Amino acid sequence: MRSVTERDIRTSFVNCSKGETKRLNLPRDFTDSSWEDLDFLGWRDPGAPERAYLVAEHGGGLVGIALRVTSGASRGFTSRSMCSLCLTTHTSGGVALMTARRTGEAGRQGNSVGQYLCTDLDCSLYVRGKKEAAGDGVVDESLTPAEKVARTRANLSSFLDRVVG
Ligand SMILES: [Zn+2]
Repeated sequence: MRSVTERDIRTSFVNCSKGETKRLNLPRDFTDSSWEDLDFLGWRDPGAPERAYLVAEHGGGLVGIALRVTSGASRGFTSRSMCSLCLTTHTSGGVALMTARRTGEAGRQGNSVGQYLCTDLDCSLYVRGKKEAAGDGVVDESLTPAEKVARTRANLSSFLDRVVG
């Protein structure tokens, strides 16, 4: 993705109030990110661990969504869970159910979209081999990194469509 500023981020949010957007904590040192290695900027709120955020280019603009981390999926050490964006498999705790309130009327009626995501939201790094999941979470080695990136972007795009659609 292209590099973004704090202002870009704060004005990109589509599913939370202006007040929430103003108060949310940005990731530390995000301006130093290697943007070319990111399909989206995702982070957990350093001041509120149950909140997470994701900012991505979508439909010709920058779209930010606020997520609620609703479960840590602690089903024992041996259980594995898969991120629905990057399809990286993690051992317990590496994947969490995150829920985004939908925009518009659907959101006002309480509708939300849930996805299992890497708890650190570092999907972009996993698919590029720049970060490894704990416990050898490698799967689908038949795909090249470029193919994994394309698949992650497609999954992300359909997730965002469901939130803003
Ligand atoms: Zn992921």
